[in-house]
Amino acid sequence: MSSPKPQNTPLDDPLDLTLRPKTWDDYVGQDKVKQNVRIIIEAANQRQDPSVEHILFYGGPGLGKTTLSHLVAQEIGANIKITSGPAIERAGDLAAILTNLEEGDILFCDEIHRLSRTVEEYLYPALEDFKLNLILGKGPMARTMELNVPRFTLIGATTRLAAVSSPLRSRFGAIFGLNFYEIDDIKKILARSARLLNVIIDDEALTILAKSSRLTPRFANHLLKRVRDFAQVQNQSNITAEIARFALTSLEIDGQGLNESDRRILQTIIDKFHGGPVGLQALAAATAEEEETILEVHEPHLLRLGFISRTPKGRMATRLAYEHLGYHTPKGLGL
Ligand code: ADP
Repeated sequence: MSSPKPQNTPLDDPLDLTLRPKTWDDYVGQDKVKQNVRIIIEAANQRQDPSVEHILFYGGPGLGKTTLSHLVAQEIGANIKITSGPAIERAGDLAAILTNLEEGDILFCDEIHRLSRTVEEYLYPALEDFKLNLILGKGPMARTMELNVPRFTLIGATTRLAAVSSPLRSRFGAIFGLNFYEIDDIKKILARSARLLNVIIDDEALTILAKSSRLTPRFANHLLKRVRDFAQVQNQSNITAEIARFALTSLEIDGQGLNESDRRILQTIIDKFHGGPVGLQALAAATAEEEETILEVHEPHLLRLGFISRTPKGRMATRLAYEHLGYHTPKGLGL
């Protein structure tokens, strides 16, 4: 059996750890999700049930799925063990993880859509009956061994709900989607982060950063940190609107939060594919971006801004995209 893979250290960077909200009040926005999650927890507490229903969070990277999972663990006073879909390669890995859990623990599995189908098959009885049926040996000598696993709660996170198999999806008692944030919520998150980083920032600068933040907390925090560095290098104690604008221009992030890669994707659709439609594979090859990165990071932002549309034949650049890039809009382009 291979060594257990859960890690107690989260898989993300130190900035995320410093700024990660530790209380429900610090977790800004996503009110509906927060409310429903808290009802599930309260109901389990009332039943004096050591494990809560298994929960699945989906939404783009940096929207707060991991943070929310930590808050759930905190609220029910459970330990949280962290793993990810790609880290559980074989049934043995899963067995090692599950048998090392304690009663009532939360197992957080990031990128759960990347679990292999074989591992998924082993996981189902563990989720339903807290049992693991391992097959030992091969061929006619093979035999099954049933292991009891502690009652635990699985919290899955995925950036791609559609890639989670439906049998796995059906094992979750609750599935919640996280949305992009409102500008005001991002401003609140930035203001809190600025306090934690000991940075003084003007309200106008906060608005500028929030507008360029892809309405995603992780991205907003990263921008704040970059802008703080600019202010520091320029010996400025406060982040003003002027510094924020200067930093964003230097980072090649425009007023809609588009970075160089977003613009390259749009330009490629327009220049190389005459505005589209273009399939994901062709677009990835032409822009030298990973298909997954286009799907999870760039496309949601471009769709939200109305710069691309998705048709059965592929992605198309919209009139807004031509205008944003300063291109001449071709005749007959609808939107
Ligand atoms: P995900 O798991 O969806 O990729 P995380 O939970 O790791 O996202 O969030 C990334 C960072 O963004 C966190 O460390 C935290 O600083 C910030 N963050 C996310 N959601 C919120 C929120 N609702 N309120 C305040 N900060 C947030």
